[in-house]
Amino acid sequence: MSNIIFFGPPGAGKGTQAKIISKYLNVSHLSTGDILRKKLLENDNLANKLKKIMASGNLVSDDILNQIVSSRLRKETSKGFILDGYPRTLNQSEFLNDFLSSRSNSINYIFNIKISFEILKNRILIRSSEENREDDNIDVIETRYTEYLNSTEKVSNFYKEKYSSIFYEIDGSLQIEEITKKIKKFLKKS
Ligand code: AMP
Repeated sequence: MSNIIFFGPPGAGKGTQAKIISKYLNVSHLSTGDILRKKLLENDNLANKLKKIMASGNLVSDDILNQIVSSRLRKETSKGFILDGYPRTLNQSEFLNDFLSSRSNSINYIFNIKISFEILKNRILIRSSEENREDDNIDVIETRYTEYLNSTEKVSNFYKEKYSSIFYEIDGSLQIEEITKKIKKFLKKS
């Protein structure tokens, strides 16, 4: 069983690596950003609320995220899963922990992709023209990065301290293939 969390600021390459590794290990890729973006297409009341929050670069409420992730994980039948973009707050990490424990399950690997703000700012601007994402513009990038520093970095630091034996730091400034190679090496080692 491979249950993996990818951490890193927006634009660090979490999604790209999560996709590659989910195919490599044949496990599910659960990107909360992708799930939320799909939800926006429904154009109902909730979608309109989410749209405003996401376009501003702020975080969606823990209750919504915890519900999305737990209902997806309840349906999970594959050999494992990769969480990409979750947990992003300490409340979410506590919820995930309780949820997994209640099912006698746990996380096996945590990859933290580290990258400087300068590099990721440029990457996000390139991605904005490729994917046409409303939240990939210079005004919103700073809010998203601040959200990362204020909330998510605390979560990854918590895991780093508590689960040091399964916590791996990755240099996000490397080429995509290089990063994948390093991740695969860590997966093989343990
Ligand atoms: P991402 O594609 O992971 O960068 O997510 C895009 C946006 O979706 C974020 O800026 C948040 O507004 C929202 N989002 C995704 N995952 C979460 C989460 N775990 N907690 C709160 N908001 C989230």
